[in-house]
Amino acid sequence: MVKICCIGAGYVGGPTMAVIALKCPDIEVAVVDISVPRITAWNSDQLPIYEPGLEDVVKQCRGKNLFFSTDVEKHVREADIVFVSVNTPTKTRGLGAGKAADLTYWESAARMIADVSKSDKIVVEKSTVPVKTAEAIEKILTHNSKGINFQILSNPEFLAEGTAIEDLFKPDRVLIGGRETPAGQKAIKTLKDVYAHWVPEENIITTNLWSAELSKLAANAFLAQRISSVNAMSALCEATGANVNEVSYAIGKDTRIGSKFLNPSVGFGGSCFQKDILNLVYICECNGLPEVAEYWRQVIKINDYQKSRFVNRVVASMFNTVSNKKIAVLGFAFKKDTGDTRETPAIDVCKDFQKIYDNMQKPAFVFDGRNIVDVEKLRNIGFIVYSIGKPLDAWLKDMPAVA
Ligand code: NAD
Repeated sequence: MVKICCIGAGYVGGPTMAVIALKCPDIEVAVVDISVPRITAWNSDQLPIYEPGLEDVVKQCRGKNLFFSTDVEKHVREADIVFVSVNTPTKTRGLGAGKAADLTYWESAARMIADVSKSDKIVVEKSTVPVKTAEAIEKILTHNSKGINFQILSNPEFLAEGTAIEDLFKPDRVLIGGRETPAGQKAIKTLKDVYAHWVPEENIITTNLWSAELSKLAANAFLAQRISSVNAMSALCEATGANVNEVSYAIGKDTRIGSKFLNPSVGFGGSCFQKDILNLVYICECNGLPEVAEYWRQVIKINDYQKSRFVNRVVASMFNTVSNKKIAVLGFAFKKDTGDTRETPAIDVCKDFQKIYDNMQKPAFVFDGRNIVDVEKLRNIGFIVYSIGKPLDAWLKDMPAVA
């Protein structure tokens, strides 16, 4: 029986390994973590993260071929394939602070693998890492390996939070990068055989190590770039009287462009886009490509601009001060977990709006950072409504925000 161990029981490690265990009953999967509360939660009825469908998958395999444990060393020692899915945040101190990825957790995981291993292993980069990380990891492993053969693979994860299980069941593609040597190709085949339990062969792409590492950063940069592009358009829409929803619908109909990721908003958030683009910018700078670095940095700059534009609009509309004013924030997660608006409570919230208006001091404002409220209805109630990229009402035109 093939044994898999995954270091890091987070948003990626937990769901990914649960799905592998479900789809591969012939494989034993152990997910390990240094965090005792996280592992305790994975072994309880209150899983540490919420993803639609996750609980069902975990319940079907936990205790059979899926195990959660804090005994990191034991499971690493026994495994044939070790996934490393630890966090890789942006560095806060030292060289590259504020941009480069902090690989401290990765490095300590690699050193531990080298220390405890007694048999050959495939080590899989699941975390998002800078291109060329595999080279550094290889050095750590081989210099401490006591003759053990390690093959490093890059297998970045493309799941999105909120749809993780769906994405893992039906991935657009699985990407596996490895060394172009016979041993590297054999390792690629072993990992490919795992995914082939449920992913059609044509959706499993194999590349060299550096292409796979870079593709993850590139994918996130392209996705974020679309958000910044439509948000940049939203500012121009407000200045000209165009409606950004109409513009994005019109351009999205072009099959070369496509309609996904063209929703204007207050900007992207979450744990990945910003950190991965900053990392990409840093890598470009280190490779002597300042123009390319500046191009991608602009995606972040527009995102920051969009956030401050929204806040400035809020403050300017309310006579340039929010002191002693009460502001309610509806919805605080970085994104919703579905695009389905049937029966959404938001509909009731909108109906409830008349009551809210009656109880508010006048003038009463609504600032919609996700373009979900019915602007006309709210304006008819009496609200002054700011909705990103849509024609402004007279009040907002008279109180221009300074970006
Ligand atoms: P996370 O913070 O939720 O989980 C990481 C886990 O690793 C933590 O529980 C931590 O305790 C554990 N850990 C750290 N060092 C360890 C060690 N030496 N030994 C054992 N456990 C250790 O992070 P995440 O959101 O799952 O992200 C993991 C990686 O996947 C990151 O590189 C991220 O960029 C990437 N990624 C994330 C997403 C996402 O949507 N969250 C999607 C794709 C890729």
